[in-house]
Order: sequence, then C-alpha cells, then structure tokens
Amino acid sequence: MEFLTASDPEVGQAVRAEYDRQRRNIELIASENFVSPAVLAAAATVLTNKYAEGYPGKRYYGGCQCVDVVEDIARKRACQLFGADHANVQPHCGANANYAVYQALCNVGDTVLGMDLANGGHLTHGSPVNFSGKNYKIVAYGVNDQGYIDYDQVRDLAKKHQPKMILAGASAYPRIIDFKTFADIAHEVGAYLFVDMAHIAGLVAAGLHPSPVPYADVVSTTTHKTLRGPRGGMILCKEELAKKIDSAIFPGSQGGPLEHIIAAKAVALGEALKPEFKTYQQQIVKNAAALADALLKEGFDLVSGGTDNHLMLVDLRPAHLTGKEMEHRLDEVNITVNKNAIPNDPEKPFVTSGIRVGTPAATTRGFQEEDMKVIAQVMWRTATDFEGKQDQLRDMVAGLTAKYPLYD
Ligand code: PLP
Repeated sequence: MEFLTASDPEVGQAVRAEYDRQRRNIELIASENFVSPAVLAAAATVLTNKYAEGYPGKRYYGGCQCVDVVEDIARKRACQLFGADHANVQPHCGANANYAVYQALCNVGDTVLGMDLANGGHLTHGSPVNFSGKNYKIVAYGVNDQGYIDYDQVRDLAKKHQPKMILAGASAYPRIIDFKTFADIAHEVGAYLFVDMAHIAGLVAAGLHPSPVPYADVVSTTTHKTLRGPRGGMILCKEELAKKIDSAIFPGSQGGPLEHIIAAKAVALGEALKPEFKTYQQQIVKNAAALADALLKEGFDLVSGGTDNHLMLVDLRPAHLTGKEMEHRLDEVNITVNKNAIPNDPEKPFVTSGIRVGTPAATTRGFQEEDMKVIAQVMWRTATDFEGKQDQLRDMVAGLTAKYPLYD
C-alpha cells in the first residue's frame, strides 16, 4: 500500500481509507468476506497482463503456457471441492455467470421460473430491470407466510407455465433450500434445473448445506461470499453441457479471462479443500444461530423466525424503523449492513422494512458466539435508544474489533 500511495497518492489514500474502514467496522453484509493474504497476493500478480481468450490448451493468443497451468488448477480444484464433472472459472462475476447459463440453456423469449427479488431472489433471477426479465418470460415464485419457499406454489406454477428452466437459489433466504424437490419438479415438467448457490457455496463445500450438484443441470456461484475467494463467478455442470456452458462464456458473453483473478480463485479453492475451512464454515453457522437468537431476545423479529445458514433477515417494524434508517444508524456506530426488503414489504425497495445480516466476514475475523450477543445489544440500542448514545455504541463496537484485528 505504501508503494501505491507513493506512486499515486490520490488512489493510494482512498485505498488506505477503505483498509482502515474494513478494520474499524464490524462487517455484517451477508455477501461479503475477507480473503486471505495469499488470495490477495494472487490477485495482485503479473497475470493481469496476459490475454488468454479461449480455454487451457486452446487459446487464441500465444504465451499462455503459464496461465493454462493456473486455470487448470482452478478448474480441477472446483470439480474436486463440489464433486462436479466440469467447471468454468472464467465468469467475471456472478451476474455474468448467470447470463451465460441463460444463454446456454434457453432461447430469448423462453419461460423461466425464478425466485421473486422481493422474496429473496437475485436481480438475475428475473427482475424486469435486468437482462433476465427483459429477455425471458419470467414467472416468479416466492415464500409462504412463514417465510419458507412455497414448493407447492413452485410445482403449480411449473405445471401451469411449463418453463424451459427453473432457477433455484437466493440472495436473502435464511433457510435450507430443498434442491431435490426442485429437481423433482423440473423433471415432472421437463425443465432444466439451474441452481445459483452464490450465497451458500462455502456451506455446500463444507457439507453444511445439501449440495445442488447431484440434482441440477447447471450450478453457478460467486467466489467471494461464503467461499471466501476473490470477487468473481464460476459455473459447474454435467459433462454433456460443458461445451455449451464454455462457449456461452467465451465467445458468447465475455472476452479475455482475468487470469490474475483465476489464480486467486485457485488459491481460495485450495483453501476450501483444507479441513480448517470446514471448521470456519461451522463457526459461520454457529455465529448466525447465536446472533439470530440474541436479536430475537432483544426484541427484533426475524423473517421465518430464525436461520439455518449464514444470514438472517431482520424485520424492523417492531422497532418502528425502516431498513434505510437502520443501515445509516449502524454505519454511524461502525457496523455495516444492507437494507433489505422483507416479504410483502410495505416500504419501497430503496427504503424497506428490513436489513439483511450475515456472519461470514465477522467469523473470518475470529468472532465467536458470545460476541454475537454484544452485536445484538448494539443493534437493539441503535434501533431504540440512539440519540446521544453514538459514542457509547461505537466504543462497544471498538471493543470487539480490537479483539479480532484484521490484516495485521
Ligand atoms: N447470485 C446471487 C444469489 C447473488 O446473491 C449475487 C450477488 O449478490 C449474484 C448472483 C451476483 O453476483 P455479482 O455481484 O458477482 O455479479
């Protein structure tokens, strides 16, 4: 960082400020994490200089011998970790991975059954403002009054609309997803099953959430959430779809792969294959359960009443607060979350009645169950007894972050 600041003070200082912010705040954004120094180092290598359109052994540029080795390691580790036939590690992000899967399995105008954004789905699962909603005929399923995916509704909608593809997976769903039932429904109507496991990939790798790989035709993921790799995407599929998926990424929708990021993905996947990774994922789940329990005890409501995974959706209506206001207040006391719609949210999407809270990043720092109780206290006091108390609340947060220094 000193080198960067000496060479370009303007950018260097902004990066330094972000480094300080990450160390000072408790990170509770469910989709974020802190990569290891080895992953960070791999992302900042000379591989950024290399063009490598195509795939290992079949490139459109010369001089790819070394990046071929790196990309092959990443693909092999991805297949080993998830028990997949084939992996494509080139997607620049999760949205690009999903774009390519639609392109590989569907024609523009085909019907796709996906989870409603307001019920926990992702933009790429059919939102009208996204390519998915613009290019495909989307039918949306959601959650029932208890906050669980309504599999009867999924089956009814699938039978009625005969989709070409059913998309399972979510950005804000705190419960186990039953991929077998999704696969049964897909088989009943002759649809492809596409699972986007971006949020839960780390849990799946550690065997703490049922794997979609045996059930789905194609599985996509991001590499930067619970999986704790660099920002990026990845696609896993059965051998018979490998060619289609690969050509939907290149040349279908991307140009040259980011080989430095692929190197970082390879390192992260190597870390995920080690026994410590399982212990880390177990702690994420224990911390989430402890935080959910403590938040309920403080007086908050949680969508579905709790969590099975790494995240929870806090319904702020008992505290008479919007998600937008709570996000701002927590930022003031150095806790980072994002506002999030709750099912049937009466507020607009930019205001919301909820926040999404997750434990992957705090767990990487070393936070334990007893720390979750303190976080819940800070959150309740931030919601109900805030004015004039900001310094006290910041001190409580500083007590925790000092216990678990980051990137020291
Ligand atoms: N899929 C799911 C379920 C997600 O939650 C996200 C991002 O939050 C994505 C895909 C998109 O990932 P990216 O932001 O890398 O494009």
